[in-house]
Amino acid sequence: MPAITPWEGEEPRFALTDYERSAACARKRLCSVCDQAMPQGPVWRVVGAAESAAIAEALAAGRPYRNLEPTLEGPGHRACMLYASMVCPYLARPNARRGTPAAEPDDDMTSHVVRGAVRGAMGAVVGFGEYEYAVTSSRVLFRFLDVVEFLPHDTADEHLDELRAELDRMAK
Ligand SMILES: [Zn+2]
Repeated sequence: MPAITPWEGEEPRFALTDYERSAACARKRLCSVCDQAMPQGPVWRVVGAAESAAIAEALAAGRPYRNLEPTLEGPGHRACMLYASMVCPYLARPNARRGTPAAEPDDDMTSHVVRGAVRGAMGAVVGFGEYEYAVTSSRVLFRFLDVVEFLPHDTADEHLDELRAELDRMAK
């Protein structure tokens, strides 16, 4: 049992699991960072070094990029993902590893193919034209199509100016 479980009477009440949250995110088009609705149009996510390199390579070659391996990470608002790229330790730090191997099936696949091909960026905030999802009995999988914006970074705080500008735009 998790260390922190709110109790109600005799029954432990668990918070929404990641699975339930992801399913709601996928079905209701909710941002995976702030849980608020995302408008129609592009969605954003933070990608690691391998996927960033694969996208850079595809763009340079004029090929469409498809993340063919689904990921467990849902999309979010542009501002939320710019923010997440700076505050989320495992996303922001080049050498940090994610906790669950299942969370990055695409990265291992991609890094095998493109390792050494493109250097520089440690990751990127990427806008996609649309996302697809599948809710299975145990997992929620996302797949992203059509890169509409590509903001690579060597260190995540490079996005601070972009985030400030985005927040200014939203405030108007
Ligand atoms: Zn958001």
